[in-house]
Amino acid sequence: MTLETVAPRSQPSQLPVVCSWIAGTWRETGQVREHLNPARPGVAVARVVSGTRDLVIEARACAQQASLAWRRESAQARGDVLRRAAAKIRECAADLAMAVASEEGKTLAEARGEAERSAQIFEYFAGQVAYEPDGATFAPAATPDLLFARRVPVGVVAAITPWNFPLAIPAWKLAPALGYGNAVLWKPADLVPLSSRMLMEAVLAAGVPTGVLQLIVGSGRELGPELVGVPGVDAVTFTGSTEVGRSLMLAAATTGQRLQLELGGKNAAIVLQDADLDNAVEMVARGAFLSAGQKCTATSRVIVEDPIYDEFVSRFVARADAMTVGDPVQPGSDIGPLSSEANAQAVRNAIATGEKEGRRLTLRDPEDVPDGAFVAPVVLADLVPDSDLVRNEIFGPVAIVIRAADADDALRIANDSPFGLTAGVHTRSLTQALRFSEELRVGMVKINQETPGNAVHVPFGGTGASGFGPNEQGKAAVEFFTEWKTTYLNQI
Ligand code: NAP
Repeated sequence: MTLETVAPRSQPSQLPVVCSWIAGTWRETGQVREHLNPARPGVAVARVVSGTRDLVIEARACAQQASLAWRRESAQARGDVLRRAAAKIRECAADLAMAVASEEGKTLAEARGEAERSAQIFEYFAGQVAYEPDGATFAPAATPDLLFARRVPVGVVAAITPWNFPLAIPAWKLAPALGYGNAVLWKPADLVPLSSRMLMEAVLAAGVPTGVLQLIVGSGRELGPELVGVPGVDAVTFTGSTEVGRSLMLAAATTGQRLQLELGGKNAAIVLQDADLDNAVEMVARGAFLSAGQKCTATSRVIVEDPIYDEFVSRFVARADAMTVGDPVQPGSDIGPLSSEANAQAVRNAIATGEKEGRRLTLRDPEDVPDGAFVAPVVLADLVPDSDLVRNEIFGPVAIVIRAADADDALRIANDSPFGLTAGVHTRSLTQALRFSEELRVGMVKINQETPGNAVHVPFGGTGASGFGPNEQGKAAVEFFTEWKTTYLNQI
């Protein structure tokens, strides 16, 4: 698929078609819908053919069969496939970015960065699976036998992914799952059909055998029951909302599936009185508002120590009001639309509630934006601690500022959340930095940086309501996508 096919067309028949890839063929029959560009009301970017439950059943059987040969391939050969996939992704990075911008609304610059990041993930795992040890030997237990344990593939993995990082999150599931020798059933979010198909094509072109990677297009609610809590799927790796993730936990328990959940967040940035305010304002604004606040790791609560509260907040509000909201494919836009009109409306409703329960500090009317699913950045204050807006994800360009009496109070407020994904701390004090790193109950702490953003080679995951199961990425990925097999060998 090229840049031309990704560009919006007025004639439905000219739109690129996105459908499931099952057992080596694209399945173009089924219920069809048009996917709309959230930045351009009424403009469709793709025709999407939904798969059926029968198709998923077929895909499961095909994956089980295909996994038997794939797991016997050498790790070097599987690593080579990942390396070629990285190259293919790079080749079409500009087209992938355009697809993400036109179907999901991420700015082109951010989408381009995500495409590059996805290539890096495949590259990283190419080396990881091929060259890192795949087990360990142990001192013999009794007789002089050979005692060793190896990590072996788990079998068939369902990868269920969200729309907010439609390239990077699939990459950090698909690359290790395939690289460690599993067959994968990938169910991307319904909101990002075009980039999902393009990513799929890039990975298939790297030489993945038939049945080892299949794409399931359609509604998660309808097709999910054929992936989770069913025999024939050994593991489920899911990134998405806490609500859906927890429902999958119950379903997976019925067949004892291995489960990995990466869920929502209510991430805090803490600004202490000794912070570099220029840096803190910029990092908190980027963390809260880029990608229209639709990152699981986005800054949602901004906890500011009392002595600098007024100064920080006035500068932060000015920065929010100065950000450019506009067409994500235009270079000057800092913030594109929300991913859909429905999501934009939910955020507008949350803002209206916030204005009633508390106070909006930003001067720009959040609805004074171009036509489409746009919402301008909003800073809210004076909300009570048990307000739903303070406790739960809004998933839009909305930050809530909270005054803390001192550093201890800031820590207490930050930890007063069921979520535990990321947190930011802004301070010049090494002592405070290390103390917060130790005491924040989150999976990732960023000191003097924005809360989103993580490196490809280190563990990533949340605690509490933000995650369940082994971490993703880096060396941690081996824990979920393989299992131990121990061998006791006596020579006779
Ligand atoms: P979502 O509604 O939970 O959907 C995530 C995925 O699950 C989609 O592919 C969806 O398919 C599918 N799904 C929905 N219901 C299902 C069911 N009953 N069975 C099986 N699959 C089902 O989340 P989202 O709106 O796409 O993504 C935003 C959420 O993801 C936010 O809460 C965000 O914080 C979280 N997130 C977390 C991380 C992390 O690493 N912790 C990273 C990114 C995003 P459909 O699209 O077809 O409904």
